[in-house]
Amino acid sequence: MNAGMSEAAGLADYHVHTRRCGHATGKTAEYVQKARHKGLREIGFTDHIPQYFLPEKVRDSSLAMGEGELGAYVAEVLALGAGCGDITVKLGIEADYSPGHEGALKAILEGYPFDYVLGSVHYINGWGFDNPVHIDGYAGKDIDALYGVYFELVQRMAASGLFDVVAHPDLVKKFGYRPHGDVVPLYKRTVRSIAAADMAVEVNTAGLRQPAREIYPAPAFLAICFEYGVPVVLGSDAHRPDDVGRDFEAVAALLRRVGYRETASFEGRRRSLTPLP
Ligand SMILES: [Zn+2]
Ligand SMILES: [Zn+2]
Repeated sequence: MNAGMSEAAGLADYHVHTRRCGHATGKTAEYVQKARHKGLREIGFTDHIPQYFLPEKVRDSSLAMGEGELGAYVAEVLALGAGCGDITVKLGIEADYSPGHEGALKAILEGYPFDYVLGSVHYINGWGFDNPVHIDGYAGKDIDALYGVYFELVQRMAASGLFDVVAHPDLVKKFGYRPHGDVVPLYKRTVRSIAAADMAVEVNTAGLRQPAREIYPAPAFLAICFEYGVPVVLGSDAHRPDDVGRDFEAVAALLRRVGYRETASFEGRRRSLTPLP
C-alpha cells in the first residue's frame, strides 16, 4: 500500500506530542519526517504545558514536561521549523484549563512566541477523567451530570480568552460513557461560548483509537460548530510518529459532509483559512 500520501496529503496536523511529555515516544524530528512522508502541509507541535496549576511537588512528569523544559521545547521546535523548507512547522502548546489559575497560565503563554494554544479540559474537580489510571472514578457517576460539568468547564475555558482552539471538544466520551438525555442543548450552549470567544475547534482522530470509537467532537457537535461559523483545525493527538496524520481521510470526509470547505491555520496566534485539498 502506498499508504501515507493519499490519507493526509495537503492537510495540517495541529496536535502532536513528543517524548518530552513523558508518555509519548519519538523525537521532534521524527514527527516532522513522518509528516513530510505523509505529504502534510503543516505540522504543529503541542506538548503538554508544565502543570502550572498544581503545587510543584505533586506535578507528574509522566503527564507533562517540567517547568524547566519549556524553554528547550520552544527552542527545539523553532530551530526545526527554521530548517525545513518543504513543510511548515508550527509552535503550539496544549494547555490545561484550570479555573482560578488563569493568571499563571497567561504569564507562561506571554513568555513564548507560540503560533497557537490548544485549550484542554483534562480535569474535573481535580480528577484526571481521561487518564486510564483513574478510570475507577466513573463508578457510580451520573454521566448526564458529568457531561454538564465537563461542558461547563469548556465554556469557562472559552470565556477566559486565553486559548485559540478547543482541543478534543467532547473528551468526556473517551471511555465510552454516554449520557442518556439529549445533549444538543448542552452542545449549543458550548458552541455559542466558543463562537463568542472567536475560537476554533479541533477535530481530533484520537477518539477513534479509544473506547469511544468516534472522532472528537461528535458529528452533532461539529454540525453546530459549522452552523455558528466556528472554524476547525485537524489533530491526530499523535503520541508516536506513526500516528501523525492518522485517519485524516475520515476527518476530511466528515468535514465535507458537515459543510466545511476550509480549515484554520495559525501563525503568531493569528488565524487564517486554507481550502480543504
Ligand atoms: Zn489532551
Ligand atoms: Zn494531546
